[in-house]
Formats: sequence, C-alpha cells, structure tokens
Amino acid sequence: MESLKLSDWANNVAPSPTLAVDAKAKALKAAGEDVCGFGAGEPDFDTPAFIKAACIQALNEGKTKYCPAPGLPQLRAALAEKHIRDNKIHGVTADQVIVSPGGKFSCYLGVMATCSPGDEVIIPAPYWVSYPEMVKLAGATPKILLADDSSNFKLTPEQLKEAITDKTRMVILNSPSNPTGAVYTREEVEALVEVALEANLYILSDEIYEYLLYDGVTHVSPASLSEEAAARTITVGGFSKSFSMTGWRLGTLVAHPEIAKAVTRLQGQMTSNATTFAQWGALAAIEHPKQSRDAIDEMLVSFDCRRLTLLEGLSSVDGVTCQRAQGAFYLFPNISSFGLSSTDFASRLLEEEKVAVVPGIGFGADDYIRFSYAVADSTIDEGIRRFKAFCGRL
Ligand SMILES: *Cc1c(COP(=O)(O)O)cnc(C)c1O
Repeated sequence: MESLKLSDWANNVAPSPTLAVDAKAKALKAAGEDVCGFGAGEPDFDTPAFIKAACIQALNEGKTKYCPAPGLPQLRAALAEKHIRDNKIHGVTADQVIVSPGGKFSCYLGVMATCSPGDEVIIPAPYWVSYPEMVKLAGATPKILLADDSSNFKLTPEQLKEAITDKTRMVILNSPSNPTGAVYTREEVEALVEVALEANLYILSDEIYEYLLYDGVTHVSPASLSEEAAARTITVGGFSKSFSMTGWRLGTLVAHPEIAKAVTRLQGQMTSNATTFAQWGALAAIEHPKQSRDAIDEMLVSFDCRRLTLLEGLSSVDGVTCQRAQGAFYLFPNISSFGLSSTDFASRLLEEEKVAVVPGIGFGADDYIRFSYAVADSTIDEGIRRFKAFCGRL
C-alpha cells in the first residue's frame, strides 16, 4: 500500500499537551498507581442539579432536533442580557450572540471569521495551548510575546505597541488566564485596548474564567470600555468552567453583528448548531442568575481554600517561586532554578513521585509548570508533600 498522505493542516497541528498529561496520569491510575493528578483543566464538581433538570426535561419533551445554527433564540436573548448585566457590554442584542459547541470552538470561529493567510495574531505567553494552533489552522501567523512572572504574567501596552506591524490583525487576551491565573485590572485592560484600537486590531477576549475570581478582584471585559472597543472585540465565554459543564460542550461568542453573521456562516457549515437539549440546560443557568451565583459561590469557597493551601505549599519549597494568582484554578510556579526543562521536570515528577502537572513549554513558557487546584483537598496535601520530596532530591 502507498503511504498515507496527510494534509499540511493535520501535519502542522500540535497535539494538546494538557490532554496528553491527563491521559498519561489516568493510564497510571488505571494501572493501580496512586497518582496525585494536578493536570486536569476542569472543575471536580458536578453540574448544578437545576441545570441538569432543565436538560432532562428538554429531552423528555422531545427537544432532540436541530435548532438554528447560531443557537436557541431564547438562549441567545438571555445571553444578550447576561452580557449587558455581567460583562457591562452596552446594548448587546440577540443577533450578536452565537452559541457554539464549546469556548474552544468559539475562539476558533472568532479567529476564522477575521484572520486570513498572511495576517499576524499577537498572543501573549504564557498562553492557552490552543491559541497558536487555531491561528495556524486559519493560515495566519502567531506572534508570541513573553509576559513572564517579572510582569505578573501580564502583557504591557509598550510590548503590544512595539510588536504591531502592518500585518497585525488581532491580539488575543485571556483574563483570568489559563495557565497563570493572572487577572488584568481595569487600568491594564484600558491601556491594552487603547493600543489595539489605535492600530485597528481585533481583540479576541477569552473570558471563560470570568466568574472564578479571588481576593476581591473584578473582571473587566474589553468590549465594555467603549462603542469602538465593542465593535472590534470578539468576546468568548462558556459554561464549562463556571458551571462545571465541560462535557456538555457549550460556548458563547458575542461580537459586532457583521462578525456574528460571518461566524454563523462558518458554524453552519462546520458543525450546525450546538447540541439542542444541552442548550435548554444552559438556558436555566442564564435565566436563574441567583441560583447560578449560589452554585458558583459554593465552588469558589473550595477553590479559594485550595488555592491558598497550594500557594503556601509551593512557596515553601526551596528553589520554587509562585505568583499569587487571582483567577481561574491554576498556579504556575517557576521551577527554572533546578536547571531542567519543564518537560523533563514534569516527566520525572510523574515517574518518581506520581505527581501529574503540565509542563510550561506547552504554554510557551519553559521555566514553569502548571498545577490545577480543581482537585480534592487530600490530593493537594499529599501532592505538596511529594513535590517537596522531589525538589529536595534535585
Ligand atoms: C477551558 C478553556 C476554554 C474552553 O473550554 P470549552 O470546554 O471548550 O468551553 C477556553 N479558553 C480557555 C483559556 C480554557 O482554559
């Protein structure tokens, strides 16, 4: 048989390193090993019961058919209100809202709708693993700008300004951030948006962790800053992280009506609508903000407690420094003093101590590893003990 030829798209796309670590840790666990898994990028809570109930009711009522490509009209209308209320984006209408099969797909649609071959997209590192790959799949070129722990993992307006060329089409912002947990302040968002608008860039704002905040910080949506900012910003959100609905595959996208129309055309050809009965469940989450807020707050109490335990544990290890992240559910300690690549560090940590973390190289930052604290308290205590023992031997 002749060798099977794959496309350039398939050959050039990197496998997701976060999913890879999770798979390796799960395989070890299945083989009976006692693994402390910090690799997971999902909450360890169940989906709130009232959301599941609404989905089950939809199934029982036979809501099992296609719906319009951009989403259930009721859900789009409710999400328009949500973006006015919570994200403070002025006058959002239902025709600006798309419901997609996941925040990840929303990001991809946003890039596909606005970026062409030859365009450059600025991505601050440490970045979420999928951004550079999406940009490449759209035929555009990722331009990575490192914002390390010396700047609290935040891109500065000077850095952004300096990197813009006449080919730059978009900048991707992700606050609160995966993998660093960094949250941009209002002033920081304002300064970045000002530079982006001056250069006529699009802003892809990935706000999937918008409700997962600690230390009293607030989330600021770039699209809330001005009419011009709203017109140039594609706001991505979703249900996976805030409502513990990762397996439901539901994301959102809010953009200028022209962009939303383009996104609808793309989604219509690429997948049709997101799962219909899942959207009926999501509608319950958006239509009952009080119940949703309570469910999120309950989760946040646990997350915050674990964040502080993990932060204290990691900071107490000789040779490790760790920023006090104020969002999402990750810490991103610096392990560069040990002189190992993040991949070697993470593989040895998994082999020798059965502790699974994600190497920073996958996020474009080889001096770090990522711990998720969306794990049981007992895992955190035991994981820190093993991590200390491991670092002590290096
Ligand atoms: C988890 C995640 C998403 C999207 O997740 P979905 O499950 O596809 O909704 C998007 N951006 C970041 C930064 C994430 O961590």
